[in-house]
Formats: sequence, C-alpha cells, structure tokens
Amino acid sequence: MAEFWEEKSIFDMSAQEWESLCDGCARCCLHKLEDEESEEVHYTSVVCQYLNEDKCACTRYEERTILVPDCIQLTPVGALDYGWLPTTCAYRLVAEGKDLEWWHPLVSGSPDTVHEAGISVKGKCTSELYVHPDAMEDHIITWVKQDQGEKE
Ligand code: SF4
Ligand code: SF4
Repeated sequence: MAEFWEEKSIFDMSAQEWESLCDGCARCCLHKLEDEESEEVHYTSVVCQYLNEDKCACTRYEERTILVPDCIQLTPVGALDYGWLPTTCAYRLVAEGKDLEWWHPLVSGSPDTVHEAGISVKGKCTSELYVHPDAMEDHIITWVKQDQGEKE
C-alpha cells in the first residue's frame, strides 16, 4: 500500500501529515548567505541560537517566527518555492516527486536515523552566539552525501 506522501498531493495532506514530513535534520536552522549576483544560496555551519543542538529541536517553536523574522513556517505553497531548502529536505523531495530516503523517520520508524546517517546538524554546527556576523562567510559549508560520497 502506498504511503500518504507517495499518493497524496502536498495540498491534500492533513496538518499532521504535513508536520510529520519534517525529518528533524535542522538544516534549515543554519544561517544562509545568498550570492547577490548569482542568487545562489550557501549554507553555513552557524545555527540559530534557539536550536537545541543535541535534539535538533527548536526551543522556542511557538514563538519562533516572532523571535527570528527569517524563520520560515513552511506551507505547501511555500514548499513549491523550495530552491533554498537543503536537497535532503523531505518537503523539497516530495514537492519534486522524489522518494524519501531510508533514514527519514517515516521510513525507518526511528527519529534517530536522521542523526545516524549524518544528515542532521547534530555535532556539526556552531551557535550564532559564538560567531561574529561579519565572519559568517568563513563558515560556508558543502554537504557530502554520506552514502554515495558525492557532493550535493
Ligand atoms: S530542512 Fe526540511 S526536513 Fe530538515 S528540519 Fe528543515 S524543514 Fe525539516
Ligand atoms: S527559531 Fe527555531 S525553528 Fe526557527 S531557525 Fe531558530 S531554531 Fe530553527
């Protein structure tokens, strides 16, 4: 039997189904820099101060969009404008008609696999509290696909 993310349009998902698509990687909580000329988005290893880095969970979830103006609440419409999202993000994958990976909690049945596969930011990020805003460029990262050894 097909799973809901395989057979439903993102616009037909319930709020609970939509929320469950998030794999808990917290990659979207990393600071991003946009190249003004090419409009290319570069991720950094600097993370929002409100992230619990051990659990990759927001400590201020209810008030996040007030505390952090560019903390985006993803909606189905917003997910279609997904170019800035990490290529591993389930919202982006589903919007592109791709399958979820084995480590996604909905596939593996465990919230730990996103960390075990090295997809989450756990153990790989630095809080913005310790990085000067002018030094953000020094922290630009390139992700490597753990299972294929390829650059994203
Ligand atoms: S990048 Fe996507 S899947 Fe990962 S935490 Fe953000 S919204 Fe969830
Ligand atoms: S406020 Fe929470 S959800 Fe938003 S970027 Fe910061 S840690 Fe992530």
